Amino acid sequence: MKILNVTSRSRDELIDITEKIQQVVSSVGIIENGYCMLFVPHTTAGITINESADPSVKSDILMMLNALIPREAGYRHLEGNSAAHVKSTLVGSSQLVAIEQNRLVLGTWQGIFFCEFDGPRNRKVHVHLFNS
Ligand code: ZN
Repeated sequence: MKILNVTSRSRDELIDITEKIQQVVSSVGIIENGYCMLFVPHTTAGITINESADPSVKSDILMMLNALIPREAGYRHLEGNSAAHVKSTLVGSSQLVAIEQNRLVLGTWQGIFFCEFDGPRNRKVHVHLFNS
């Protein structure tokens, strides 16, 4: 297992980590064909795959998550970051991507995004690589 460090700069932020994940896959170099399992070990962050070509998609996703899950809504969790916990659960904490010829298999417009919901912070993504 490899660990990728991610630094967020805002409270809510989608960070494209596709190239960094590809670098990890390439650097290991023994997984010609297999799978890359990505896991975010945090309760107020997540990971998703979506369009990386137009940055408006990132901001639209964040806009709608904020509309659906307001910062204040009579939450009971005393830490004050319940909205971030709910967003984390909606987005999810893992993704599985196939690897062929040492390359992540993604659609033309797809990128892998670390989803920060309680930043700015230093975060980690666990990268598990499997041969098939
Ligand atoms: Zn909390």
